[in-house]
Amino acid sequence: MNNDLISRKAAIAFLQSIPYIKEHPNMGELMKEWIEQIPGVQPKTGRWIDDNCSECGQYVYHGDANNYCPNCGAKMESEEN
Ligand SMILES: [Zn+2]
Repeated sequence: MNNDLISRKAAIAFLQSIPYIKEHPNMGELMKEWIEQIPGVQPKTGRWIDDNCSECGQYVYHGDANNYCPNCGAKMESEEN
């Protein structure tokens, strides 16, 4: 199983789109409460410094072409910010 990040909001929306859950709203509410209790992580942000990630230091060839660091997953702030 991937150890990636998912959106809690998207997970609840997906859950509520399942026909079985629509037929059993109490089950949907219970599962929504469980999803809301799952510990979350705050995505880190960084920037490219000469194609090196400011968060983990990883060198990435043409790093500034990526929105995320492929090594640590930091979301890169754009130059415009
Ligand atoms: Zn990184």
